[in-house]
Amino acid sequence: MPSEVYFSDMRTRAELNLLDKVDRLFDAAGFASLIDPGDFVALKVHVGEAGNTTYVRPQFVRRVVDKVKAASGKPFLTDANTLYRGSRANAVDHLRTAVENGFGWAQVGAPVIIADGLTGRDYVEVEVNLKHFQKVKIGSAAYHADALITISHFKGHEAVGFGGALKNIGMGLGSRAAKQMMHSDLKPQVITDKCTACGRCTRWCPQQAIALVERHSVINEAVCIGCGECTITCPVGAIRINWKTSPEAIQEKIVEHAYGVLKGKGGKAGFLTFIMDVTPECDCASWSDAPLVPNIGILASRDPVAIDQAAADLILQAPGLPGTRLGEKTSAPDKFRTVYPHIDWSVQLAYAEKLGLGTRDYKLIRL
Ligand code: SF4
Ligand code: SF4
Repeated sequence: MPSEVYFSDMRTRAELNLLDKVDRLFDAAGFASLIDPGDFVALKVHVGEAGNTTYVRPQFVRRVVDKVKAASGKPFLTDANTLYRGSRANAVDHLRTAVENGFGWAQVGAPVIIADGLTGRDYVEVEVNLKHFQKVKIGSAAYHADALITISHFKGHEAVGFGGALKNIGMGLGSRAAKQMMHSDLKPQVITDKCTACGRCTRWCPQQAIALVERHSVINEAVCIGCGECTITCPVGAIRINWKTSPEAIQEKIVEHAYGVLKGKGGKAGFLTFIMDVTPECDCASWSDAPLVPNIGILASRDPVAIDQAAADLILQAPGLPGTRLGEKTSAPDKFRTVYPHIDWSVQLAYAEKLGLGTRDYKLIRL
């Protein structure tokens, strides 16, 4: 049976602007029915890296906040810290970036709560028993929320082809250590020249796999479990993250984390996706390259697989724009594979469907 995906295009008029369309999509997809009075409702957002300008605008998020309040829920915005050392790698920097990008409480009407806390260590291990992971580390604020509404910016992605709802919750709500395990099959390495022998990582490592030897730390690979905790704690960035994994494996790992995020929600999850500013890279980039296709519209669904499939299909059907990373290939049918020829982005959809997170079979309902 196909899942319902509601769609509003970009056309507007005096009595129906794009913000009003967000309200209509929220209502059509029945998101209010996901919320019981007093529920903590996590709104998964991406506030954008400093320098990025194409994340979902705070005005749209404000509309969702107001709808959740009208349904008697307690909304808060959330995201987990990043693995890389950018402007959102800890809660202090992350919150400052959120405010600078327009997500202050006064603007969006709700607080931002960083899902995995000050340094990325505030997570809950969720048992999943899947192909890559027995347990996944989910930011505790997201885990403990009663309901989840995911607000995604659909765009290209350098590691998985595109980023949509599955990526937003799977990678996005994984703790920093979870992100290390999704991004890499390899264990971290110490850059001995940078190490100041402060000893902080030796105290932090949950496996006691690091020791100070002579004037720098050394990781015992036989004991290390590759959790990535040490990469978070080093104050001088002397523990290098290995970013190596295959595009297929990282997609499956993301989906296993999405499975962990949704496992405790009892179906109280909704997904809102903006197909606007479809940049080749994700919003973790500190820039926003020219969009690959014209703005298409906004989707809402209760099914994360169906909404990602629908968004991908709409982009594939759209004309490619000149002067973009598509180069001369503006009429190529698959924009994402044109930009990232080595990535089969369909893996994440097929694996999510196999795990029962939703279906790729959808019915597009135009509002
Ligand atoms: S990756 Fe985890 S187990 Fe390995 S050395 Fe770092 S903190 Fe310890
Ligand atoms: S935390 Fe960093 S600087 Fe300190 S001992 Fe570990 S690797 Fe070296």
